[in-house]
Amino acid sequence: MDEPSGNVTVTPWETVGRLVAWLDAHDPTSPEVSRLLRLYKIAEEAGEVAEAVQGVMGTNPRKGHSHSWGDVEDEVCDVIVSAMVALASITPDAGAVFARRLGAVAGRVLDG
Ligand SMILES: [Mg+2]
Repeated sequence: MDEPSGNVTVTPWETVGRLVAWLDAHDPTSPEVSRLLRLYKIAEEAGEVAEAVQGVMGTNPRKGHSHSWGDVEDEVCDVIVSAMVALASITPDAGAVFARRLGAVAGRVLDG
């Protein structure tokens, strides 16, 4: 799954690498704290998924139907991006680590 960027094809992991470099360059904390905060960010974004689903269902009487399924899609993407950034912040081989884990998880049900 590549994304076009001008005349050059850029992979999602390359874009994530650029995001990590940008975050590192603007890190007001230490590398150790920054890694922890990027891992916590996954939970923050997952909470926003839950909030958006509640907004679709209208289950909060104070807020009503405040979100669309498109908002849920955006928040799920935020979880994915946050997780990719967090993974790339703790290993330089994030793409390979993810591919190996995806293969292992899928292999549990697809290879038998
Ligand atoms: Mg979000």
